[in-house]
Amino acid sequence: MSTLPPCPKCNSEYTYEDGQMLVCPECAHEWSATAEAEATGEGDKVIKDSVGNVLQDGDTITVIKDLKVKGSSLVVKVGTKVKGIRLCDGDHDIDCKIDGIGAMKLKSEFVRKV
Ligand SMILES: [Zn+2]
Repeated sequence: MSTLPPCPKCNSEYTYEDGQMLVCPECAHEWSATAEAEATGEGDKVIKDSVGNVLQDGDTITVIKDLKVKGSSLVVKVGTKVKGIRLCDGDHDIDCKIDGIGAMKLKSEFVRKV
């Protein structure tokens, strides 16, 4: 049995590989197997900093504006360096630990990769 995905156009199961391409013999549709794999990958959302750098788990960032810490009088000062960020889902897409403040969440639009 073939493990190739069905044709995205006509749903035919008789697709075959032709080099890097997948080909459907029924409707003659050709598409790239690698592009398909990337598109359906883990569904990873790309998170970018304020200037468009792609952020990854473990990156070090600096905060580009003073940020009030919810529910306290603390402020994360502009220029604060944060090591070992973790990306997460949601409105605030960065999970991190800040010296003197503790665990908190940041928005990627207010940080910059170092
Ligand atoms: Zn087809």
